[in-house]
Amino acid sequence: MTHDELVQLDSQYIMHTYGRFPVDIDHGKNATLYALNGQKYIDFASGIGAASVGHCNPAWISAITEQIQKLGHISNLFYSQPGPKLAQKLCQRSGMSDVFFANSGAESNEGLIKLARKYSFDKYGKGRNAILTLKNSFHGRTITTLTATGQDVFHNYFFPFDQGFRYATPTLEGIKEVEGDDVCAVMLELIQGEGGVLPMDQGFIHDLAALCTQRDWLLLVDEVQTGIGRTGTLFCYQQYGIQPDAVSFAKGIAGGLPFGGFLANEKCRDVLTPGTHASTFGANPVCAAAALAVLDILDDAALNAVKEKGTYLRSAIEAMNLPCLGKTRGLGLMIGIEVKGNVSNRELAVRLIQNGLLVLTAGPGLRLLPPLTITKDEMDQGLAILRNTLKS
Ligand SMILES: *Cc1c(COP(=O)(O)O)cnc(C)c1O
Repeated sequence: MTHDELVQLDSQYIMHTYGRFPVDIDHGKNATLYALNGQKYIDFASGIGAASVGHCNPAWISAITEQIQKLGHISNLFYSQPGPKLAQKLCQRSGMSDVFFANSGAESNEGLIKLARKYSFDKYGKGRNAILTLKNSFHGRTITTLTATGQDVFHNYFFPFDQGFRYATPTLEGIKEVEGDDVCAVMLELIQGEGGVLPMDQGFIHDLAALCTQRDWLLLVDEVQTGIGRTGTLFCYQQYGIQPDAVSFAKGIAGGLPFGGFLANEKCRDVLTPGTHASTFGANPVCAAAALAVLDILDDAALNAVKEKGTYLRSAIEAMNLPCLGKTRGLGLMIGIEVKGNVSNRELAVRLIQNGLLVLTAGPGLRLLPPLTITKDEMDQGLAILRNTLKS
């Protein structure tokens, strides 16, 4: 099949919900990808942070292959090994007490919302169900997670949206402006991803955690993008020195297979009882086996390397002093780059992609989410494309 035939097939039969770049990808190895016509790309996007351990990672492939030859799916009506083994690893490495497995980021965040409302219902009865989220946040595409998303552009067309969400500016004063007796939780990203790679202030997060304890609001952290090693620790909250009541994850957890879930602490144990929450594919054995391989690959040494690689990329980009790029920000391999001058981030991304470097946009800037296993050589190849494309 040629590129043009593929584009034709896609646009005839797939709903036009994505503004795709004019590039196809056929196969890849770690952070290097190839199109149908053989053109090579360096991957600074990893499928929006999902291909966390690189493309076709050998250990990931063996884990999946071994599992799928034994059992592909069984549902949560029966026991099977990969789910509980994965749950144990996640709890031990996060300090949380138990986990619910789901299939996507939005679904995992829906779980956080249900957990918070049921926690409050059990303890205080009806009416204490509002959740505070932050302006400029992104929590997903279902009606409820769209409502939770603190950006007006997402609150269109699909009326009626849900009740029970209020949006705060990310300061303690901002939270106090919208608080009330009806609040049961605060949900936030520690680094807003889609919003433009915007890290939250450490002091604000500490004050907020203390306020949550004082008011008995659950502190819900959406780590769908920041989690599973992206920022150089298994979860980003570990670098903020807080212990949330519950935390969601998805994107990178199964190295590119659809998977997600949320972890909760002791306080939330047995809030979600039989019949109150479920998922047909949750803890699917193949996805859970893939996630086990991902966690093995992302050991302490690999996570420290994520921090070093992030520092290396950011200082190399800043040292280029390119006319169209400003400051970089983020943590680990979640990097935002300011775009300057009269060129848009989308135009820059198109040019970089044409020249063989896959990048993402976020807010008004560029965003880099390379595979966490990217090599020095792959980073240098990507940086060379960036320099040559944007120097003029
Ligand atoms: C991507 C993302 C989501 C949504 O995840 P899906 O798997 O697309 O449903 C939710 N929250 C954050 C912070 C994300 O980055």
